[in-house]
Amino acid sequence: MAANTHLNIIDHPSPNFGDRPTDSQVDILVMHYTGMQSGQEAIDRLCDPASSVSSHYLIEEDGRIFRLVDEQKRAWHAGRGEWQKCVDVNSNSIGIEIVNPGHEFGYRPFPDIQIQSVIELCQGILGRHTIPASRIIAHSDMAPDRKEDPGELFPWQELAKQGIGLWPDIDPKEVRPDEEFEHLLDIIGYGENDAIKRCVAFQRHWRPRNISGVIDDECLLIAKALADASKR
Ligand SMILES: [Zn+2]
Repeated sequence: MAANTHLNIIDHPSPNFGDRPTDSQVDILVMHYTGMQSGQEAIDRLCDPASSVSSHYLIEEDGRIFRLVDEQKRAWHAGRGEWQKCVDVNSNSIGIEIVNPGHEFGYRPFPDIQIQSVIELCQGILGRHTIPASRIIAHSDMAPDRKEDPGELFPWQELAKQGIGLWPDIDPKEVRPDEEFEHLLDIIGYGENDAIKRCVAFQRHWRPRNISGVIDDECLLIAKALADASKR
């Protein structure tokens, strides 16, 4: 299958862009959701000179792709933040706005047809620019203090399967339980059992407000205190 040849991109120019610094190169890709009631509302805002925001592309929920700013130009999508020491993300990135009302207006799953367009657009971008997988990020990755987009429903794993971004393949069975915690549970009195089940049981008794099955610092502290108390 010839990639991208059938990709139909609708030009919808935004005036909100500048030149990239001559020494900059495109090596970051930032995913956003629009976070507005409708796609049209988002397009209007991204093309309104008064808003001073834009992105290179916008992808509607029906899969249509709009080009707002040429990839060679510097769009205004990222704002304050940083990723891998880069503090001027706009100069070095391409920004894609993906239509979704977002957490404020009714966050909902991204339709398959929309994600298919995201994948095909990204594959094209990766063919034109050298962007390491570790630099394909969420807006919230570079600005965790002020952004949530594109959010937890964004199918990063699906994108990674298509060669876009990172998704580490971990086998939960290979996660080593914390040896100290296990030892403490032995002292407290737990018998041999599955490590996660032991942890859940421990939490159900002594840390009931958060039964996660995951050993955290609080669990460790409680277990230490219990083990000390158990020795007396
Ligand atoms: Zn954003």
